[in-house]
Amino acid sequence: MAFDLHRCAVPGDPDDLLLTRVYPAPLRSARTPFQRDRERIVQARAFRRLAGKTQVFTSRASDHFRSRLTHTMEVAQIARAVAATLGLNEDLAETLALVHDIGHPPFGHAGERALDRCLQRHGRRFDHNVHALRIVEHFEQRYAAHRGLNLTLGVREGIIKHSRDYSLEQHPELAEYLLDERPPLEAQLIDLADEIAYLTADLDDGVESGLLEIGRIREHVDILGRCYRQVERQHSGVDEKFLFNEALQLMQNILTDDLMETTARNVLAIGAECLADVRLHPARLARFSPQVEAERLQEKRYLYDTLYTCEPLETEHEKAEEVVTALFDHWINDPEELPVSHFEEVENQGLARVVADYIAGMTDSFILLQYAQIKRALPR
Ligand code: MG
Repeated sequence: MAFDLHRCAVPGDPDDLLLTRVYPAPLRSARTPFQRDRERIVQARAFRRLAGKTQVFTSRASDHFRSRLTHTMEVAQIARAVAATLGLNEDLAETLALVHDIGHPPFGHAGERALDRCLQRHGRRFDHNVHALRIVEHFEQRYAAHRGLNLTLGVREGIIKHSRDYSLEQHPELAEYLLDERPPLEAQLIDLADEIAYLTADLDDGVESGLLEIGRIREHVDILGRCYRQVERQHSGVDEKFLFNEALQLMQNILTDDLMETTARNVLAIGAECLADVRLHPARLARFSPQVEAERLQEKRYLYDTLYTCEPLETEHEKAEEVVTALFDHWINDPEELPVSHFEEVENQGLARVVADYIAGMTDSFILLQYAQIKRALPR
């Protein structure tokens, strides 16, 4: 299966606006600008910290659960394969997948919710896409001449727009990212590659954890039930665990093929001839078909009800909330306890934002260490 959407892809031509950088960077090798951005991201400290951040399960329970880093690599594989099959810019798609979760705080979504709640008390919000942009534009310090990674406009636009639209009214600071236009297809497909990766992985890790049962998944998740029956017909007398693995792989292929076919069909249907047609179309073109979209929603609801909000994970979420909130309050009350490089930012960014930035950058183990230290220092 191959589709030719090449005419709608982000071009690799160095004169293109999407390849421009804030600080001109002379080409030193034959690598394309997006290949250079991929290297800058993979070598970033924030990227390495993804290894220590929770996806759904904390690594303390098993070495086999996905971390945010291994999840990121799974998304990158899917995004690159989809972009290649559709004739899109593979380097841009892979780079955007590698950076898509770089703005996540420790403890997964529980950590993000807690940090957002803390910031709301100070009239601010926490948003991991906006935070990812701040990481690549300001916090990473690898170059003598400027702060940040000096990424191309195409990658920075994709970071902010890969999963949702932002209004200029609410985010005037994002004006340079053409907020009234849709992002290129390479950015649009990242959110769906992300969905494909975690819909597969979370069933896998859920069973590994003992919190989900294969039989019940087959009963309640139609797409997995369908795949399971098919592999059961092909492999008789095989252990349930192997059938489940085969069914997960089949489900991932079905989701990926559907994304490619539906996106290509949508592009054809509006007669898009170039990137501008994709950008000016009122809706995103990268999508699943209505049937697969309904199955995706059904599975997502199942994961939410039976896994993400199950008691053992909710206990971890409460602990995460307690740790994030206690540390946030600690540094709000005593800013001089912040590391010097963060304390110096308070004048420009405001204390609440600086404290949230510091916490958001932490791994699970580092934040627990900080928490243990402040607890020890408290009077008994
Ligand atoms: Mg993700």
